[in-house]
Amino acid sequence: MAEECIFCRIAGGQLPAEVVYQDEQVVAFKDIRPVAPVHILIIPRKHIPDLTAITPEDKELLGHIHLVAVQIARELGLAGRGFRLVNNCKEEGGQVVYHLHFHLLGGRQLRILG
Ligand code: C5P
Repeated sequence: MAEECIFCRIAGGQLPAEVVYQDEQVVAFKDIRPVAPVHILIIPRKHIPDLTAITPEDKELLGHIHLVAVQIARELGLAGRGFRLVNNCKEEGGQVVYHLHFHLLGGRQLRILG
């Protein structure tokens, strides 16, 4: 855990969040500034600053995050309609919080990225 990291603090229960799913490896919670009817952040409990910091030992974790995303999407009725799973990486990618996270977005027609 990184003491100064807000997402580590959310994962550790020291900061409040609307958690929709959690297990030993990941926590998923509602984004505080949603940009779509469904906007959930899926984070590993392990502190990984950004996507470029992943290593081969994180392969299983990254697969697990995708399986959790699909499970949540199914539970929210998005699996048939479609949704988006996005990672913003570093400054030009629009990353603000430096703890790896994936945005699960859906519930409306999403437009082309850019
Ligand atoms: O990918 P990026 O780093 O830009 O996204 C960070 C996201 O974390 C933002 O969508 C922001 O609303 C969200 N956030 C949150 N709860 C916090 C701090 C940030 O949901 N306490």
